[in-house]
Formats: sequence, structure tokens, C-alpha cells
Amino acid sequence: MKNRMISFICAAALAAACMIPGGTAFADTRKLWENGAQIGLDAGWQYADYSAIHTGAAVMYTARANRKDKIIAVNAGHGTSGGESVKTWCHPDKTPKVTGGSTAAGKTKATAVSSGMSFRDGTPERVVTLQMARIFRDQLLEAGYDVLMIRDGDDVQLDNIARTVISNNVADCHIALHWDGDSLNKDKGVYYMSVPDGLKKMEPVASHWQQHEALGDALIAGLQGQGMKVWGTNPLDADLTQTSYSTIPSVDIELGNQCSDHSDAVLQKEAAGLVAGVNAFFGFS
Ligand SMILES: [Zn+2]
Repeated sequence: MKNRMISFICAAALAAACMIPGGTAFADTRKLWENGAQIGLDAGWQYADYSAIHTGAAVMYTARANRKDKIIAVNAGHGTSGGESVKTWCHPDKTPKVTGGSTAAGKTKATAVSSGMSFRDGTPERVVTLQMARIFRDQLLEAGYDVLMIRDGDDVQLDNIARTVISNNVADCHIALHWDGDSLNKDKGVYYMSVPDGLKKMEPVASHWQQHEALGDALIAGLQGQGMKVWGTNPLDADLTQTSYSTIPSVDIELGNQCSDHSDAVLQKEAAGLVAGVNAFFGFS
């Protein structure tokens, strides 16, 4: 059912693109997404065959007013049951990882979706990333952005590669929401994951890492504008599956660690900071 709907939308998009002189297929395709559209992984998309978990679907939310004609992929980190027992290639060229993380440096395959950390009060990270994604979605819609919710519930059967490839083909940027699992006893502040030098010659990273970092810098500035503390080490170089397969501006943002306050009031403030960052990145402020 889902696949048939997507095929229909793609066929219609293709027809529309052909009829508009000078129009690009991408620009015309995305205007046809309807509010509530479920968007799964299209096997024909670049890197789609690297994904191991892709029976789920992202969900499109379209803005009602002040439309900016930009689609923001909001990726609530973790939340794929069974994702930790499946492996996928770290890089499209199958070279080994250059930094540590949930998977060690030197490995060629990484956990498809890791389970994430737990806050000091016992709340799993995946619960807070979803809560944050919903708050961020609502503020983006209010600001006139369309939002592609990569995970729109407790569990989505899309691995990190599928999440990235769907974003690449549907959205204008990809923002993954996380909190860090470190061993500190204090909240170290917010930061984003930048691209290690060792990856900057590998495609598609070579063509896009500057966009990733420009988006990351804009988001951090937005958070700072809301009074959020920024970790002194920001940004942190990390070899992530997300950025290794991204062909649009794409960032893993860490909104703190296991000690961070994740009350609704703080998440609202963080979302406002992220919206300000998105506005700045796209030149709306
Ligand atoms: Zn995480």
C-alpha cells in the first residue's frame, strides 16, 4: 500500500518536472508531498542498497502558513528495535572508520542503529529525542518550514543509512537529535559532530562536509542565542554513518549529555535555538 502510494507520487512528480521548462525534477518533486505522506526508502536512490533496515517510513508535515518552501528532515536519534544487532558499511567505499564512537575506529561495519544512552533519571535517550523532535517539528511548522519526521513514533524500522538516504532525496537539510552518553557527572553543554579530516577526500563527504559544518555552526549559534551552554570542545570530529552518506547539509547535534535537564521548558528553548539556526543557515534572518 505504502509502496504503491510512493510510486504514484514519483510518477506524478516526474510528469510535472517534464512539463515545466527549466524546472528541476528535485524542486518540482518535493512540492507534491502531501501533509501526512509516508515516505519509505526507494530502492533506486543512491546508496539505498547499503541499508539493511528499511521497512518503515518517514512522515511529511507541511506548513499551513508563511511557507518557506524548505523541507527539514528531523531525525529523532535511535528508536529502531533490533537495530543494534544488524551491521551496515560505515562508508560507501567500504573503507574503515577513522574515529571511535558506538563503533571503534578501524571497523568497516557499524551498528545499523545503536540503542542510545540513558539519562541519570533513567529515561532512555530515544524517548527524549522523540519528544524533542516533536517540539522542534511544531516550531518549524509555525515558522513556515515543512518537516520530514524521520521517526514519528517510538519505533521506526529505518536504519541510519535509510534515514540519511530518504533525507537526501526529500529534504533540504538533515538534523539528527541526540544527547551524549559520556561518563561526566555534570551537563557539559551542547555541541555538534564535525567531519574528521581523514574523510574529507571521500565522496560524498568531500563535496558536502563544508555544508554540514556550516549548518552545525549555525545551529550552535542559535542555541547560544537561547542561552544554552556550548561545550568547550565543540565541534567534535566524528566518523558517522549519517555524514558519510549525506548529500545535503547534515548534522548530528548533541543537545547535552545524560546529566542535562530534559524538561519540556528546556526542550522548547533548545528547539527555538535550532529554528533560529535553520533560519540563519537558509538566509531567513
Ligand atoms: Zn544518541
